[in-house]
Amino acid sequence: MSYEPKILGILGGGQLGRMTAMAAARLGIRCIIYCPEQDSPASQVAAGCFIAEYDDKQSLAAFAERVDAITYEFENIPVETIRFLQKLKPVCPDDRILEVAQHRIREKKFLNDIGIATTRWAEVKKPAEIEKIAQEWNAKALILKTCRFGYDGKGQIKWHTGDDSKVCWKELNSDEIIAEEIIDFTCEISVIIARDKLGQMAHYGPVLNQHKNGILAQSTAPAPIPAELADKAITMTRLLAEAVDLVGVLALELFVTKDGQILANEIAPRPHNSGHWSIDACAVSQFEQQARTVCGMTVGIPAQHSEAIMLNLIGSDVKKLAKYYEMKNACVHLYGKHDIKEGRKMGHVTILKDKNAVEEKKDDNDKTGKSSTLIRHAG
Ligand code: AMP
Repeated sequence: MSYEPKILGILGGGQLGRMTAMAAARLGIRCIIYCPEQDSPASQVAAGCFIAEYDDKQSLAAFAERVDAITYEFENIPVETIRFLQKLKPVCPDDRILEVAQHRIREKKFLNDIGIATTRWAEVKKPAEIEKIAQEWNAKALILKTCRFGYDGKGQIKWHTGDDSKVCWKELNSDEIIAEEIIDFTCEISVIIARDKLGQMAHYGPVLNQHKNGILAQSTAPAPIPAELADKAITMTRLLAEAVDLVGVLALELFVTKDGQILANEIAPRPHNSGHWSIDACAVSQFEQQARTVCGMTVGIPAQHSEAIMLNLIGSDVKKLAKYYEMKNACVHLYGKHDIKEGRKMGHVTILKDKNAVEEKKDDNDKTGKSSTLIRHAG
């Protein structure tokens, strides 16, 4: 591999961009952020920043001029912005996966078409259809979600038989709605995968994810689930990465059902909150993979060296930080956000399991497979 310092452009100024820029800096890659906000978490640690709207073509062209490759750190960047930039510089992941991930119906259809099982779903075009769908599925309740811009449990409500469908519809405030069967799952997991231009892949997880008020609160890596289920989740995520010819990082969020099925819930075409532990528990983190693969390098071997629990610091959790600074094996990460707001991700803490405890269990890990591996094969 030739030594060629690169400049990576990142669309979006949040914590995912911040952690990608920090990982990139370690490899000598400079990052330039493009986002509409002043003093964003990512721009605080980057080599430069364009502050402009995502439809400002003049600023986008100037940004493209300054960088060698472009990626994005959140999935609500307009697809038109990516298509405009793709004509000027390589953008990874490309517009195809972004377009799929931005719309829940397109996402479910795509997953089902490539053979990945999801929750049962139906498009809802008007309120009167909600009751009909519930009857057809013999369900007493449904989850209704807006097709776009839903995150951290926002843009979704539960509908129960007898509820006024028109009121629910109004509450969602969108005319693109999906109805989903409510899954009585045993747990929620995710797998994060990095793939390079040669088609080589490395994965993290499955990770066990626990939510509070619809927001990820805790991730445990590796997820304490049977090896067959873990293998199945990894196979599904690899299938997805290959189907979209991924260059970059993506996460697949999954439900494990009581009868042992794994159902895909959502795709995130970027590093994921459930992979933050990889910064402290692996030789190569999900963020380093993003920087490497988008800049044309090969994926690295994650080499998880510690079991880990990641705790999100949400809203005022950040005021209770002192205990983590005192705790052995606790790695504190703050995102540089000034205002504490309810539900706002202010930082996270990764707690590494005691090294001796990991070493004692090494043989078991070897038998069941580590939670992160490099799979080398042609694309
Ligand atoms: P989402 O925005 O689709 O990631 O949903 C946020 C959270 O709502 C998930 O992490 C689950 O805890 C819950 N959820 C979403 N869809 C379903 C479903 N079909 N059945 C049960 N719980 C769900």
